[in-house]
Amino acid sequence: MARNKITPKKLARKRARRSTRRGDDSNSGARPGLQTQVTGAGLWDVTSVGGTATVAAIRGQTAVVLRDAGFGERAVNNLKTEDYPDGAVPGDRVEIEINDGAGRIVSIGPRRSKLVRLRAEHGRMALAKEHVIAANIDVAVIVASTTSPPFRARLIDRYLVMCQYGGVEPVICVNKIDLQQPDDAALAIYTDLGVTWTAVSAETGEGMDRLQALLQSKTAVLAGHSGVGKSSIINALTGERSLQVGAVGTDRRGQHTTGSSTMVEWSPDSLLIDTPGIRSLGLWDIDAQTLGWYFPEFADHLSGCRYRDCTHDREPDCAIRVATDAGHIARARFDSYLRMLRE
Ligand code: GDP
Ligand code: ZN
Repeated sequence: MARNKITPKKLARKRARRSTRRGDDSNSGARPGLQTQVTGAGLWDVTSVGGTATVAAIRGQTAVVLRDAGFGERAVNNLKTEDYPDGAVPGDRVEIEINDGAGRIVSIGPRRSKLVRLRAEHGRMALAKEHVIAANIDVAVIVASTTSPPFRARLIDRYLVMCQYGGVEPVICVNKIDLQQPDDAALAIYTDLGVTWTAVSAETGEGMDRLQALLQSKTAVLAGHSGVGKSSIINALTGERSLQVGAVGTDRRGQHTTGSSTMVEWSPDSLLIDTPGIRSLGLWDIDAQTLGWYFPEFADHLSGCRYRDCTHDREPDCAIRVATDAGHIARARFDSYLRMLRE
């Protein structure tokens, strides 16, 4: 339980080297309504030689890290290398070195998964660069709502492509079941794809225990359209047990400060990373020839297309179209695919 003794504290706005202030129990960066443990015991020791930590948030050239074994959080200088041109990102496991009170990241561990945004250069995907937004995420919770805003399967499909690309397990969470029942027919498609989905009401708490169980001992992010209830779910999920890191500069919903992100450890080893970059995922491009690869149900049919670079749009003898017409691929998914392709 040592990891629970994290002391959320105000981060020094100045440089990292000046940030270690023993006995600073200031809690002004925490979200209102979240009860945080302020013990004063978990503060990072200035004499420490460093250690292993997890990146909670990035602010410019500075990374806010949560150190292992309950040593608390602190700001350190980020590291950019050839292998990691974006530097460390939330979720990264890093080695820290501290000299004269100044901390810096000296190495970034291998990433077992990543959420990326792909950006075409001059409109050409061949030159696309991937921008890593978060690393080592176990689960991406794709949040949708039954109503207000209306359920949008296309958006879910888009996030599923990102998960497939980055090696992150998706869980679809349909919120606001207190207002309307979920669309079982629409969700059956995801059951067939082997994607877990769960229905909740952040408002009444219904279904939250199952979501909690799905995220236990994992590092998770929440993604989804604005207004579907991501903040409400995070609050309902983490409740008062949560300890959060890197909250300085964010408002209650963590949304209005550019580049802000938070990490909440809501039970030992259970982390929720909330970053605006993930929230707005979906504004990406993927190569027309490879988009189909991220639809797992296409895989069995791809070899049947006449053209190797078939985009399954208007090409003759397209096996994906045939499979869709035959009912082996859900029409709604194929429509999502075409929609993404033509953007
Ligand atoms: P976000 O933009 O995805 O973070 O969404 P919010 O958490 O800010 O929620 C948007 C609105 O939906 C707020 O007014 C919430 O009170 C409301 N809301 C969130 N979850 C539920 C729910 O389960 N049921 C109902 N009825 N309203 C909800
Ligand atoms: Zn085809």
